[in-house]
Amino acid sequence: MSTAGKVIKCRAAVAWEPDQPVVIEEIEVAPPMADEVRIKIVATSVCHTDLYHLLESMNKGGFPTVLGHEGAGIVESVGPGVTEFQPGDKVIPHFIAQCRECRFCKSPRTNQCEKAWTRVRQEIMAGVESRFTCKGKRIHQFMGLSTFSEYTVINQIAVTKIDPAAPLDKVCLLGCGICTGYGAAVNTAKVEPDSTCAVFGLGAVGLAAVMGCKAAGAKRIIAVDVNPDKAEKAKVFGATDFVNPKDHSKPIHEVIAGMTNGGVDFSLECVGNVEVMRSALESSLEAWGVSVIVGWTDMYDVAIRPGHLICGRTWKGSVFGGFKAKDGVAGMVKAYLEKKVKVDEFITHNMALDQINEAIELMKNGKCIRVIVNVSPQ
Ligand code: NAD
Ligand code: ZN
Repeated sequence: MSTAGKVIKCRAAVAWEPDQPVVIEEIEVAPPMADEVRIKIVATSVCHTDLYHLLESMNKGGFPTVLGHEGAGIVESVGPGVTEFQPGDKVIPHFIAQCRECRFCKSPRTNQCEKAWTRVRQEIMAGVESRFTCKGKRIHQFMGLSTFSEYTVINQIAVTKIDPAAPLDKVCLLGCGICTGYGAAVNTAKVEPDSTCAVFGLGAVGLAAVMGCKAAGAKRIIAVDVNPDKAEKAKVFGATDFVNPKDHSKPIHEVIAGMTNGGVDFSLECVGNVEVMRSALESSLEAWGVSVIVGWTDMYDVAIRPGHLICGRTWKGSVFGGFKAKDGVAGMVKAYLEKKVKVDEFITHNMALDQINEAIELMKNGKCIRVIVNVSPQ
């Protein structure tokens, strides 16, 4: 029996309040409205940004919510005016949008879209719209998405149709972490052949940044993490050196300067810690180093001295790896199917939706890279 046009009751992991385990609940998912698609989520993963909202942020707004923004699924039905998608299409939703019509989408200078949810109420990490209710309450859609749910409704500007050959329980990772890190190296830092690089933080985002540095032809890639378990994994993605700041009494930027005749050409911060952002900047060569902030926090200001920049360093930030969302996701799925980028190597665990709190704990304790959560196993 077709579900199109009807409210769907399904299971979702609801975060009722911050700092508490999420709860598997039955929620109601409204039919898609104009320009929206309703998607059956097949697989998703936990990214640090989900943890950040649940456990770390000082901004305790944005609850109740359904977390999850790194997922993949199948279109169940479409709202009025949707021509790009049909029921049955394999898709990846994304937390940034690409309407292709606004001045941002038309400019090569940015991957932002003027119609994205982020431009309305970013502090609650959700748009004003939501198609979810549970126990009579409206539930926010985290980052405009909410992939920890069997079904979700998303504006078509934040969804990409992908090659039907792509395995959803793998390419879901292209919805955030891998594109973010890889693109930060190739699109934002614009890493050059034969250059030296340093990547701080070796979660999926940092490991993907390592992969991007290697793809761009870097000759030396120094991977930095306080967790020694990350060293082996970093080599898989192309790191030539591993440095644990805890093994050194000197500040880490001095260690890296000593290893690289004054500093690296490119550094990327993939932790979300303002101290590390400064270290990454100072690890880049004073004369021409480029340092990119990828990690996310809204808790603290970051302090540097003008002298850190005045002699020639460039300091940048990167969201979703600088990829225009639809073009970037489709391109990265193609690159994966052509075996030009790694995806499977990021997966350390597979779980069911019921185990979502375990997946969150593994992430919190640095015991996984990415856990695939099979929301609706195929
Ligand atoms: P993760 O938790 O898997 O990885 C973070 C890594 O940083 C861990 O390996 C941890 O051991 C390491 N680390 C912690 N403190 C450190 C320190 N002082 N020095 C060096 N390493 C340290 O997280 P992730 O999912 O890879 O996400 C990384 C960051 O990127 C988060 O802040 C997340 O919110 C952010 N993020 C940003 C975007 C974007 O578009 N800019 C997208 C996705 C994620
Ligand atoms: Zn993410």
